[in-house]
Formats: sequence, C-alpha cells, structure tokens
Amino acid sequence: LMLPAAAGGAAAEAVPAHLDAGRPVKDRVESLLSRMTLDEKIGQMTQPERQNVTADDITRYRLGSLLSGGGSVPTPNTPESWADMYDGFQRAALATPRRVPLIYGVDAVHGHNNVVGATIFPHNIGLGATRDPELVRRIGAATAEEVSGTGVDWNFAPCLCVARDDRWGRTYESFGEVPELPAAMSSIVTGLQGPRLGGPASVLATAKHYVGDGGTTGGTDQGNTEVSKAELRRVHLPPFQAALRRGVGSVMITYSSWNGVKAHGHEYLINGLLKRELRFSGFVISDYNGIDQIDGQPGFTPAEVRTAINAGIDMVMVPSEWKRFIETLRAEVEAGRVPLSRIDDANRRILTKKVELGLFERPLTDRRYLGTVGSAEHRALARQAVARSQVLLKNDRDVLPLARNGNRIFVAGKNADDIGNQSGGWTITWQGSSGPITPGTTILEGIRQTAGRSSTVTYSKDGSGIDGSYKAAVAVVGEKPYAEFMGDRPGAMGLDDEDLQTIERLRASGVPVVVVLVSGRPLDVAEQLPRWNALLASWLPGTEGRGVADVLFGVTRPTGKLPVSWMKSAGQQPINRGDGKAPLFPFGYGLTYRR
Ligand code: BGC
Repeated sequence: LMLPAAAGGAAAEAVPAHLDAGRPVKDRVESLLSRMTLDEKIGQMTQPERQNVTADDITRYRLGSLLSGGGSVPTPNTPESWADMYDGFQRAALATPRRVPLIYGVDAVHGHNNVVGATIFPHNIGLGATRDPELVRRIGAATAEEVSGTGVDWNFAPCLCVARDDRWGRTYESFGEVPELPAAMSSIVTGLQGPRLGGPASVLATAKHYVGDGGTTGGTDQGNTEVSKAELRRVHLPPFQAALRRGVGSVMITYSSWNGVKAHGHEYLINGLLKRELRFSGFVISDYNGIDQIDGQPGFTPAEVRTAINAGIDMVMVPSEWKRFIETLRAEVEAGRVPLSRIDDANRRILTKKVELGLFERPLTDRRYLGTVGSAEHRALARQAVARSQVLLKNDRDVLPLARNGNRIFVAGKNADDIGNQSGGWTITWQGSSGPITPGTTILEGIRQTAGRSSTVTYSKDGSGIDGSYKAAVAVVGEKPYAEFMGDRPGAMGLDDEDLQTIERLRASGVPVVVVLVSGRPLDVAEQLPRWNALLASWLPGTEGRGVADVLFGVTRPTGKLPVSWMKSAGQQPINRGDGKAPLFPFGYGLTYRR
C-alpha cells in the first residue's frame, strides 16, 4: 500500500480507514468524518485564493481547497512552476493529522487558459456553432490532460448558461441561446472528468452558474433574472439536469438573483431544487466573494455566512477574507444557527469527491501529463474545432473560398495578427489582453501558411497600402478582450470606428471585401453588410488561427450554424429563437460553399 508522506514518523499506527484505498468510498468518508474536529470540517469548506495563503496557513487552518482565479498565477507562469506550486501546497495539506489532500480549482474555460503555452480552444459560443458534442467531449479530455499536468484537480467549467441577451458580457461563455444546445454540449463534463472520476487525467468539472445567469434583465452581469418558475425550469435548468446526468461533481452558484433574491442565499434553488428534487450528490461551491452579495452591501456578515451555508452552499470561495470566514462560521455553528448536520453534509459531499478523484492515493502532480500542455496533438484538435466553429453568413458571388494559388490577398484589421484579441477574455489574465500573450498562430499567420507559394499575402493593420491590383481583401475586425461585467454592452453594439475605417480603406480600392468577425457575440452590422461581399463569424477562436484560414481557403467547408439569433439592430435585444422578432440571421443559420 502506497501512502502519501506522513506528517510524523508514527509508523506503528494502523492505517486509518480513510487512507485505505481498498475500502468502499462511503466507509472511508464516514470514518474520516467521525474523527474530524469542527475546525477541520470548517477548513474543508473554505477556499482561499492562492496568493493569500502560505503553506503554513494550509497546515494550521486545515484548509481544504485553494483556487487560482483568472490570472492568479505563479511566477514564472510555466506549466512546471504550476506543478511545483501545487505540490508545495499539497504537501502542506498532507502534513495535517488526517492528511486530507487539497482540491485545487482554476477556470480552464477554453483550454488551460491561465497557463502560458497552453492550447487555447474556441470559447463556448464557437463550440456551440459546431453542433458537435463528441468534438466538445474531446476538447474536455484534452483540457483535462493539460490541467492534470500542472497538478490542478478541479475546473470551474463548463459554463452552462443559456445566454438570452447578447448585451451580456458573458455571452461568449454560453454554448447557445436555447437550452438544448448547452445541454448537448455538457458532453464536455464527460471529457473533463473522464468516464469515471479518478481515472487517468480526470479533473472535477463544475456546472455553472446555477441558475439563470444568462437570463438577467438587460443582459446585466450579476443582475436579476425575472422569470416565472416555469420559465426558469424550461429555459435555464435543462443544461444543469444534463450535466447532473453526466455525473458532474460540483455546481457553482450564480451571482445573479432570481426575482430579486440572490441565488447565493436561495434555499429553494439550492437545497430544494438542486439537492432534493434533482438529487445532486456532489458539492456546491459559491462564486468568488459571492456570499458578500446576498444583502447588497459590500463584504460578508455573519447573517450572510449563515444564510449561504443553510441554503446549501458546501464550500465558499472566499479569496482573501478566509480567516474571518472561518471564525464567523465557527461562531454560527457554536451558537446553533448553523446545524452541525449541515456542516457534516457539506463535508460528506466534498470528501466523497476527493476520495473518488483518487486524491488520497495520488495527491501530487502526475507529471506525465506536463508534456501535453500546448502539444501538437491538442493544437491540431483546436484547429479542427476552430474550422468547425466558423459560421458563413454571407458570400456574394462566391467570393469565398479564396483561391490558394496565383492569388493576391490583402489582409487588414486589428484582429488579424493578434493572439490576445482572437482569444478574448479568460486568457492568461481574467480580462485577457491584446498582443502576443501566449504562443499560437494568428489568423494572418494562418492565411500565410495556407496560401500557396504562387500567391502573395500583404498585410497592414489599418488597411492602408491596398490598391486595385489585389483580388481579395480580408478585414479581420470585431471586439477586443473582456470578461464578465466589463463586457456588458447596454448601448451600441456595432463595430468601433477603427474597424469601420479599416474596412472603408479596403472598399475604396474596389477589391471585394471579406469581413472576418472576431467577437464574443453577434454585432450590429446590418447597416454595413450590403457593402461587404462576405461575412464570416469566427467568434473567439483561441490560439489556432489556422482553422479560420482553413475555411477561408476551402480546405474545410464551412459547417458552423449560429448558436444565437443575429440581431438586425441592438434595439432588438433580447432576441431569441421563436420569440417572434425578425432577426438579420436566424438561430441555426449558416451557409456553405457550393464548390
Ligand atoms: C466568475 C466565475 C469564476 C470565479 C473564479 C468569478 O468572478 O464569475 O465564473 O469561476 O470568478 O475565478
């Protein structure tokens, strides 16, 4: 029997039941629970962010979990230093009397996106356009390998939101606007966790954000979802039910409210619907400082801690104020306002997943997977996904596909040669950023690699220098990176002036213009569209820009279908399939090539 490094040298003590891999999971968990003190139990329910703890804190406070929120990364930001960081923290957890390992969580929402050099897959909206659950499952499995190679056990993904209003800054985290699409794409859970938890490169998945995050009024992030119980169940619940059927191990609560009540304190939504009615047996994690929002005032109070735990939250993401959280929860339990049975239930749920994941047997990083981070195989899969996610919306006089040979192509636009822009938010940092933030192939590089040697490809970012000698102009324009509320667009949703000017320069040459739109959502382009010869929605493709070129040149025929309705104007928002509004392009629309 292989045991993790013991704290002392107490060799004579018999192996405690919870460390005995030969026993049933339930016995191990119950035996462990019967030995744990209240402090140990509260430690399991506490999740600080990594920069706010030392290894000593982990041992001393019996902490059960850590996270790296978007961009909370080690220095240098390499796969190896992630693994070293993880192992350092994990050793501190194993130095506690009961040697309960940590579970470490990150947002690997389109590949292992916090790590420089990782494969960055298209954001979910692009994956929704592929309509291919099996492809998405494989992306989950590839992501799990990269995550495993850096030690991390737990992914705060997938986002199963049903994005009902494109003004919302998280629209790109959605697989689509109708429940069937995110429900089908919950196949990524099976990819991440593997056929069973604890198998090779198995990472705990999280269905988030429960529930109704994509339905807020005005598309306001963290806002209020004003829908009847029937509509909540019809529109927003089915993707979570699908993930539960796939055995998803954790569920994250949404910051948003349902009819004015914050989900983080919602007894019916968590205990009633999720745990009792849907029989969710995994554990519930709060969102980042999510409990602070229950009463609408900054910071958390004892009442908010009590309300959240009693409503059914099992682990609290409390990045910095974790010591005060521990003290507060302890006082609430001692005063009898949070029942010990609730604390035990939370621990049972958390510890069961830790045992099932094999963390007690294999607590340290499985470095065999380190080499998969950004591997050629994963990049090839991402390129395929990019090609499959492209949605061809217009193609007048068959200007596409571009001829590979004997062609003269002019490429322009702020998103043509920018890995950061084509990856969007949640890439290396929370908000993402422009520029060469991680290795990959830009769309321009993809075009250069795909065009034949007998063709010329000329590039200028703003379109200047084009003349009538070119056969096609490709404008790669759209949005710059953003995440969460920073990306809310309550007003205009059109292209910015820089993009409009770039396109006008190209048009002035008389050369046919192909617009490639790199964006997290549909943009308001109806007014300009008649002047463009072709329009390709590329979404946020990630690091493998060659997949866009594959479609532009017809190496791959376009097969992507709109995962969201495409508005005629921003004033139509919210616009969704079947709501009677006439869109510019309906949900499911997508052209292909005739030749
Ligand atoms: C987001 C979650 C994310 C968490 C941890 C929050 O701001 O809403 O989706 O999992 O941060 O990074």
